Parts: sequence; C-alpha cells; structure tokens
Amino acid sequence: MTGAPEVGAVVVGAGIAGLAAALELQSTTGEVVVIDASDRPGGVLRTDHISGYVIERGPNTLQVKAPVLGLLRGRKLESSLVRADSESRRRFLFRDGRLEPVPMSPLAFVRTPLLTARGKLRLLAEPFVRRRHVTGESVAEFTGRRLGAEAVGSLVGPFLTGVYAGDEEQLGAEAVFGSLVELERRYGSIALGGLLARRPRSERGLRGVYSAVEGLGPLARKLSEQLVEPPALGSRVTALRRDATQWHVSVSGPGGDRRFRARRVVVATPAYAAAEILRGSGGEVADALAAIEYAPVVGIPLAVDPNEVRTPIEGFGFLVPRDAGIALLGTLFMSRMFRNRAPKGHELLQCILGGRRWPEAIDLPDDVVIGQLLEDLERILGLRAEPRALAVTRWRRAIPQPDREHVRRIAGIRATLSGLPGIALAGAYLDGVSVADALASGIRAARELGGDPSS
Ligand SMILES: Cc1cc2nc3c(=O)[nH]c(=O)nc-3n(C[C@H](O)[C@H](O)[C@H](O)COP(=O)(O)OP(=O)(O)OC[C@H]3O[C@@H](n4cnc5c(N)ncnc54)[C@H](O)[C@@H]3O)c2cc1C
Repeated sequence: MTGAPEVGAVVVGAGIAGLAAALELQSTTGEVVVIDASDRPGGVLRTDHISGYVIERGPNTLQVKAPVLGLLRGRKLESSLVRADSESRRRFLFRDGRLEPVPMSPLAFVRTPLLTARGKLRLLAEPFVRRRHVTGESVAEFTGRRLGAEAVGSLVGPFLTGVYAGDEEQLGAEAVFGSLVELERRYGSIALGGLLARRPRSERGLRGVYSAVEGLGPLARKLSEQLVEPPALGSRVTALRRDATQWHVSVSGPGGDRRFRARRVVVATPAYAAAEILRGSGGEVADALAAIEYAPVVGIPLAVDPNEVRTPIEGFGFLVPRDAGIALLGTLFMSRMFRNRAPKGHELLQCILGGRRWPEAIDLPDDVVIGQLLEDLERILGLRAEPRALAVTRWRRAIPQPDREHVRRIAGIRATLSGLPGIALAGAYLDGVSVADALASGIRAARELGGDPSS
C-alpha cells in the first residue's frame, strides 16, 4: 500500500457537511481529496428544473446560522442567498377541518383555537414548573413536563413532523431540544432562561428563512467549485485503515480501485455509511453509528392553479398533527416564499409524505402515494381540479432520528475516535439535522483535525 499517493487530507462525502469540511481543510492543510459516491456534489441538496418549476429534491429552505454566513461570506457567495418573502411568514396547522394560523403574537396566542384556555394557562405556567434533572427523556416527556400535554400534541408534535418527519415519543429531548434542556438545567425554566441567556451577536447569523436564488443544489455546486481539486464523483470509499502514522483510504470508482494515504480524514457520510467505512478500524464505533435510525421521506412537488383550490395559497405552508387522520405530513408553499419557483400565475406546493407516520409510503407505487396525497389535499385545501405531480422523490433514509440515547452515543463515538489521531466525523446525524447544522459539523470536524499537515 505504500505506493498509494499521499495527500494532505481526504474528505469522504461531498454533501454540505463534506463540502464545508473540505473548504476549511483546504485553507489549512492545502491539498484535499474529496470523494463522493453520487453523480453530483451537494448530497441531498439537489435542484431540478421541470416544466418551468424549480424543484428541490431534498431540503427546501436554509437557516443562515453564523457558520453558514461565515462560510458563504468567506467565499463571496452571500449574494447567492435569497430570503423568503415576508408575506410568507404565516404558518398554518390543519385543525378541525381547516388551516389555523400558528400564533405569532401575544394577542394571536390569546385568540388561537389551537389550544384550549386550560392548555394556554398551562403553557404560561412554565416558569413556575419545578426544575428536574432527568436524563434520557423523550421530547414528549420533556415538553409535556414543562409545557403541558396539550402543547405537545398541538404544537410540539407538528413542529417535529416538519423538521424530523419524526415522532415526539421516540425522539430524544437532549438531542432535539438540547438548548431548551440546558435552559431548564441552568435557569429552572425555558421561558425565563430564554429571556436571560441572550446569545452574542457573532453567534446569531441572519434572521428568517432562506434559500439560494437558483436553488440549494446550485449553491452546493458553487461551493464545490471553490475546491482546487474537484470532488471525485461516482467513487465510493469502501474502507479506512490506520497504521502508525497515517490513514489508508480504499476507493472504488469508475476507473477501478484506488488508494490514498493521508494524515487527516473527515468522514462526512450518513451514519450508516460511516459505520461500513469504519467497520475495520473499530467495531464499537461502527456498531454505535449503525444504531442511528433514519426516517424515510417522499417528496411530491405539485403544480397548482390557484383558482382550482378553495383555500387560498398564502404563507409558508402547513403541517398536519398526527391525530388528524391524514397521511400527509405537511406542505410548503414554495412559490409564496420564493417568487421564481413557478411560472407566472401558478403555484408550486412541496408536499412531504412518509416519515414515522407512514413509512410504508417509500415502497408504494407512485400512483398510490399521489392518490393518497390528492385525497388529503381535497380535505385540507379543497380541490376543484387535480393538480399535476411534477415528480416523486424518495429518500429511504432521509432524516436522522436522534433518540433518547443519542447524545451519550455520540459522546462515546467521539471519545473512542479521539484515541485514533487524524480522523473526525461530520454530518447531519451528529449535532443537528438541518443544512446549517450539517455545515457547522463539517467546519468543526476540520478544526478538530488541526492545521499543521506535518503533525
Ligand atoms: C427530503 C429532505 C428534506 C429536507 N428539508 C430540509 C430543510 O428544508 N431545511 C433544512 O435545513 N434541512 C432539511 N433537510 C435535512 C438536511 O438537508 C440534511 O440533513 C443535510 O443536508 C445532510 O447533509 P450531510 O452532508 O450530512 O449528508 P448528505 O447530504 O447525505 O451527504 C452525504 C454524502 O456522502 C456520500 N456518501 C455516502 N457513502 C459514501 C461512501 N462510502 N463513499 C463516498 N461517498 C459516500 C453521499 O453520496 C452523499 O453525497 C432535509 C433532508 C431531506 C432528505
């Protein structure tokens, strides 16, 4: 294996986590080889143009947290961002047969039918609920204890459906709401802690919901174009092995099998792929990574004539609570947020199905899933004519589902890997599932490996 070329660093995976890690490493260690199994950079950030509509296959929106802003500014890509139209701030929940706005002001909170008077009082009593130190709570247990059961079913559950396609009974509070758990520990209350613990301006990023002007896939491509060495696409890392001084990376690709040697390696794949890659270097880490579950997602963008639906298409979109008897998880009104997403006079609705609510959807034929979607939309929006499904995108393992053990599992993985110099993990399964969190994990991984290539 000594004949294998030595490079400054190898990054496995060119999703947003891998791209961020590679750009950070490029500025410190110099030569970076990025390897990705897919046909384009960006991982789940994929954008296609279909019949004049801009279709996101993966994420639709982006939070511009401080690391995102720092990376884009540093690469002069900040102007690629587009902020969602301010009129699209209004969000809705499907409740009792209609779309109810999520309250955004104290007056709206008083008036909303989403909670009963008793539920509202219970929510307002949060600062007076006694502090408890509990580890391993589910989100439902933690938020139920602090905010009351009604708020969990009516507000917290739908929110988790929107972000994780997940289930509040199974998701772990410390992983999903780590900052809220910490506020309770430090201040005894989420509400009081939120008022007292203001984050420094440098950690805040930009407010609001964003995408990129041409979509998130092209933004990922622009980031990858900043790499001196373009990512090796269609190439899969099959194994990593360490000797006394460096890592040996085995790659299988279009030109046959290749090997590299590097002192630094970032593994920025999903957890299940990292488990396979690391199996030969540490069974314990591989088993812990393999235990991280993912929820499936089916995305169906619909072309809609606004005159053909009885409920006006306005705002950000809506989520559907679990007990509504509806398969659809939620719908984003993409053309309301970003005006260039649909031809003039038409609307683009991004509908999300599957998740923990309907995992079987991932294996059902298109016509069955679309049929269910149209039945659900008939109840929610009232259809006068059938909207056109522009695509069906299936992600079998879409979103990581951090459970009650997640925080301790990740700490254990990191502790074990710290005994193996020169390797770090990045990805959405570590410290947060959003695009922004995945990007931040890439920067963190690159920094963990340090900058001096001779060390
Ligand atoms: C349908 C969907 C909708 C979402 N919506 C939003 C949203 O609106 N807002 C938001 O903030 N987040 C959203 N998310 C979450 C967010 O997009 C992802 O969690 C994040 O982008 C994942 O980035 P990543 O780099 O960790 O992983 P990925 O994007 O999965 O990238 C991993 C890369 O590793 C490569 N790879 C895997 N195995 C190997 C191997 N052996 N060798 C080489 N390469 C390998 C893959 O090809 C892939 O390119 C959504 C996710 C999905 C799937």
